[in-house]
Amino acid sequence: MQMIIPIFIMHRGCPHRCIFCNVRKTAGNQPEKISEEAFRETVNKYLESAKVTPHRIQIAFYGGNFTGMGKGEQIELLKFAGPFIKKGLVNGIRISTRPDCLDAECLDMLKSFHVTTVEIGAQSLADDVLVLANRGHTSADVADSMKMLKQQGFETGMHLMVGLPGDTRASFEHTVEKTIALQPNSVRIHPTLVLEDTDLAKAYLNGTYTPLSFAETIEICKFAVRRFDEASIPVIRLGLHTTREMEEPGSILAGHHHPAFRSLVEESLYYDMASSLLDSERVRNKAVTFVLSPKDVSSFRGQKNRNLHRIKKHFDLAEIKLSVEPHRSRRSLRVIVHDKVLKPDFSDNI
Ligand code: SF4
Repeated sequence: MQMIIPIFIMHRGCPHRCIFCNVRKTAGNQPEKISEEAFRETVNKYLESAKVTPHRIQIAFYGGNFTGMGKGEQIELLKFAGPFIKKGLVNGIRISTRPDCLDAECLDMLKSFHVTTVEIGAQSLADDVLVLANRGHTSADVADSMKMLKQQGFETGMHLMVGLPGDTRASFEHTVEKTIALQPNSVRIHPTLVLEDTDLAKAYLNGTYTPLSFAETIEICKFAVRRFDEASIPVIRLGLHTTREMEEPGSILAGHHHPAFRSLVEESLYYDMASSLLDSERVRNKAVTFVLSPKDVSSFRGQKNRNLHRIKKHFDLAEIKLSVEPHRSRRSLRVIVHDKVLKPDFSDNI
């Protein structure tokens, strides 16, 4: 388990506002200025809260454009982390930033202050979508920044959004494939939300932006998870973390937010896997045992056992049992029908 201690810099370093962005909602109402005392307090609070010892602890500067800030401001914040790193309490620093705000000099500086991971806010790799989102950078900027980061030995992450204005299933698939070609160490994906006080909210209210349906959102996310699984690129976050501010009435005008969004996507993936296996052998009206990894049980069951009920009903099964194999790889499934193992096992990773 790794621990990431987020410190939010609240739009600092952003050259302008992207149409979907309201950090006051997504990060919560954090202070504009980060004092060393507040920084220390936050980090200590996280360190004290750890129930098990994480294998890696990083301080992360999120919620703005870290390398878009003045050099002095960046150094001031990075120095706050110094004592924690020196004492071995924290292993390093991660930042998130825009792809058009990195150069060799800035990467040298980051490295000298123990920044080990840089997450690039790409959102899309379709240039027309980037223009409509008012990102102010191109997909080539993303590719260049990723190349530079890799050459310098940084661990990399990419953020992607589903359902931006002008994005289609085809253009998002293109974004996923281009992302895989860039080989980040991890990705984060979240559906576009229409947050109050954004240009996207204006577009939604005047009818020029229509969010994807819930089903479309889940289908597109499933595609992305499958492809990143196949490419062995971990999706470390699916859906936005919920803040108190997002839950205030009127904060989210439209879009699909769910505190357990990842489970919804995974639940649907398991439904597809189970259906494919049962369909291929025309299993109906039987008692069936699914063999799976213990880590997959709750996603397989779905919220309130919804998946089990759906599968049972759709295939008219007499009974469903789950059996776990501790060493079974995740997202792989075996079906046993009345003691007979259906072949082959279904693996979503092949
Ligand atoms: S999405 Fe990122 S770059 Fe755009 S305004 Fe928000 S914090 Fe700044």
